[in-house]
Amino acid sequence: MDLSLNESQLTYLDTVRKFVKNEITPHILELEKGHIFPWDIINKAWETGILNLSIPESVQGYEIDAITSALIIKELSYGDTGISTSAMCNDLANVVIGLHGTDEQKELFLKPFVKKPILASFCLTEPNAGSDNSMMTSFISKKDDDNYILNGSKCFITNASYASQFTVLCKVGKPTGNFIACVIVPVEPVTSADIPNIGNAVREIKVPAGGKIIIGKPEDKLGQRLSNTASVTFEDVIIPPNQVIGDRRLGFKYVVDVLDYARPMVAAIGLGLAKRAFTVTLEYTRERKQFGHRLCDLPVAREMLTTMWKKVELAELALFKAVCKIQEKASDAGIYASLAKNTAAEAAIFCSTEGLHLHGGYGFTADYEISKLSRDAHIIDIYEGVREVQNMIIGREIV
Ligand SMILES: Cc1cc2nc3c(=O)[nH]c(=O)nc-3n(C[C@H](O)[C@H](O)[C@H](O)COP(=O)(O)OP(=O)(O)OC[C@H]3O[C@@H](n4cnc5c(N)ncnc54)[C@H](O)[C@@H]3O)c2cc1C
Repeated sequence: MDLSLNESQLTYLDTVRKFVKNEITPHILELEKGHIFPWDIINKAWETGILNLSIPESVQGYEIDAITSALIIKELSYGDTGISTSAMCNDLANVVIGLHGTDEQKELFLKPFVKKPILASFCLTEPNAGSDNSMMTSFISKKDDDNYILNGSKCFITNASYASQFTVLCKVGKPTGNFIACVIVPVEPVTSADIPNIGNAVREIKVPAGGKIIIGKPEDKLGQRLSNTASVTFEDVIIPPNQVIGDRRLGFKYVVDVLDYARPMVAAIGLGLAKRAFTVTLEYTRERKQFGHRLCDLPVAREMLTTMWKKVELAELALFKAVCKIQEKASDAGIYASLAKNTAAEAAIFCSTEGLHLHGGYGFTADYEISKLSRDAHIIDIYEGVREVQNMIIGREIV
C-alpha cells in the first residue's frame, strides 16, 4: 500500500482546500441557520470540476479513481458534510450506470451531468426496508410488450427535492418478487434557476413517458441540514426497456457494487468531519485560558486532544486501505469498506462530542461550529448501512 500522493492528487487536494476555504467555511453557519439549499456552492463545485467524479471518460466525465475521489470528498467534508453528502450522492446514483450500463445508457443518463450542474438521487431505502433492503416492496411489472411500470415508495432520499434523475432499486414482477432490478428515471432537468429553494414544499413531477413522482416535504433533520432529504413515491411510472440497467434480476449484486464504492466515500465524509472537529477544538483550546494555563496545556485536556488526533489518523489509515483495495479490485474490498466506514464514524462522533465538551458552554451554542459538527456526525454511523450491519459484514467474512 503506497501512501504517497501523485502530482494530480496533490493538485486536487490544493484545489479543494482553496474551494473550502473560500466558498464554504466563511458562509457555513449562516447557510445552515437559514436552511438555505447550497446551490451556489454546488454550481461552483461543478465549475471547479469536483462533482460527478465517477462518470467515465467515454462520455467526457472525469473518471477519477477511488483514492483521488476519497481525497476530494474528505476535503469537501472538512468544509461541510451536508454539501459533500449531496455531491457524493450524484456518484452514488450514477456509478451503477458507469459500471453496468450500455454505451447508449451512459450517453443518455450520464452525459447530462457533464453538461450542467444537476443532481441525482439513489433510491434504495423504504419505510419497511432500511437495513434489510431485501424487504423492499417497490416493484416493476410488465405493462405491455415493451414497457414496465414502476410503483412504490422510498424514504430518506438525498437530493430528492432537486433531483433531475432517480436511480431506483425495485422488485421484479410483484412486491414480493425474488429478484431486484435497477432502473433509471430521468425527469425534466432541474437547475438552481428552476427550484432555488424548495422550502417546505412537496414536489410533484409528471414523468414525460407516463406516470408521476411525488417528493415529500424535506425532512427536518438534526444535522447535515445543507443536504436535502425527502421521500419519493412512484405512481404508475412508465419504464421503457432502455431505462433498465444490466440484467433485471441482478439489482442486488449492483447494490453491493454501489455500496462497496460508496462506503469508503462515507468514511471520507466522516474523516473530513473528524478532522474539522479536531482542528477547531485545537484552535479553541490554544486560545482559551483557565487555571492560569491554556486549556490545551492542562494534562487531562491534552490527553483528550491526543485521543482525538489518534482516532483521526487511524480513520485515515483505514480509509486508505479501503480505497487501495477498491483500486486493486481486491475480492475482500467489502470488509475494508465496512471497517473504514465504522472507524471514520467513530472518529467523527468522538471528536465532535469531546470537541464540544472542550469548548465548555460555548460549544453548546450555535455560534460555535463544533455544535453543528456534533449534530452532523451521527448520520455517518447510520446511512449507507448502520454500524451493526458493517460489523455483520466483517463478522461474516472473517468467520
Ligand atoms: C440524512 C439521510 C440521508 C439518507 N440518504 C439516503 C439515500 O440517498 N438513499 C437511500 O436509499 N437511503 C438513504 N438514507 C437511508 C439510510 O441509508 C437508512 O436510514 C439506514 O440504512 C438505516 O435504515 P433505517 O433508518 O430503516 O434503520 P433500521 O434498519 O430500522 O435500523 C435501526 C437500528 O436498528 C439496529 N439494527 C439494524 N440492523 C441491525 C442488525 N443486523 N443487527 C443489530 N442491530 C441492527 C441499529 O442500531 C440501527 O441503527 C438516508 C438516511 C438519512 C437519515
